[in-house]
Amino acid sequence: MLDIALLGTGGMMPMPSRFLTAMMARLNGRLLLIDCGEGTQVTLKSLGWGFKAIDVICFTHYHADHISGLPGMLLTIGNSGRIEPLTLVGPSGLKHIVEGIMRIAPEIPFPIEFVEIDTPKEEPLVINDFYINIAQADHTIKCFAYRIDVRRKGKFDVKKASALKVPRNLWSLIQREGQIEFEGKIITSDMVMGEPRKGISVSYCTDSRPLNSISKFISNSDLFICEGMYGENEKKSKAIENKHMLFSEAAKLALEGNVSELWLTHFSPSISEPELFLDNAKSIFENTLLGEDRMCKTLFFPEK
Ligand SMILES: [Zn+2]
Ligand SMILES: [Zn+2]
Repeated sequence: MLDIALLGTGGMMPMPSRFLTAMMARLNGRLLLIDCGEGTQVTLKSLGWGFKAIDVICFTHYHADHISGLPGMLLTIGNSGRIEPLTLVGPSGLKHIVEGIMRIAPEIPFPIEFVEIDTPKEEPLVINDFYINIAQADHTIKCFAYRIDVRRKGKFDVKKASALKVPRNLWSLIQREGQIEFEGKIITSDMVMGEPRKGISVSYCTDSRPLNSISKFISNSDLFICEGMYGENEKKSKAIENKHMLFSEAAKLALEGNVSELWLTHFSPSISEPELFLDNAKSIFENTLLGEDRMCKTLFFPEK
């Protein structure tokens, strides 16, 4: 199972009742964070998932509302006792930017590894059991959307194992180890397993204009967290100018991507009551929820 928390729901600046947009994923006790604006460590503290297990922080882009919380976050992770390396992932220029902002937090007790992406590749980046997929977004500066996949192996196939004469007492070992040597032959787990089963996918897209490529990238996600900078459809020219989305545009992406559920986030500071505009999204994609700070969901593998 995969736990997801939306740490904040604001865009541009943190508000007294709304932290900046960021997402935390928890899988097998390990944590992945996407974006880290001002105050992200405060809302994470309230959430209570801890800091020490954060193994990777991904950045969509380098506007302050998505990265300026990094020095404080890394200091707090350091205070939690972490000494293991932490990986930062983001568009090219990451190392340069982080080196700049870390001048005010030079004493971090763990190594930082950088993964700078110029052009996103088809192949996911794998950290722990997180399969991190990256796609190009369309914002005023270079920006990425992310899809986190959790894969699920196929079921153990007794018929295949019996045909290979693998004794029963080695069945769990081969699943655990991935491969074993048996009577001089190498038996790999894919020789005794069925087809991989459907896993879990969560997609995250902010800040961006809607793109056809994004609806393909997020296709069939169990949860899609997407920016809704503006609620009213009348703000379309502003959305185009500032390279953001309307609620209705996020909903259209969710519909075209055939996702199961949409959470809107990254609300403009001018929206004090996002619920006034929820119908603009729901009329297009019914299963739309307005994001709230520290809103959580646990996603499970499907039954079969
Ligand atoms: Zn933003
Ligand atoms: Zn931005």
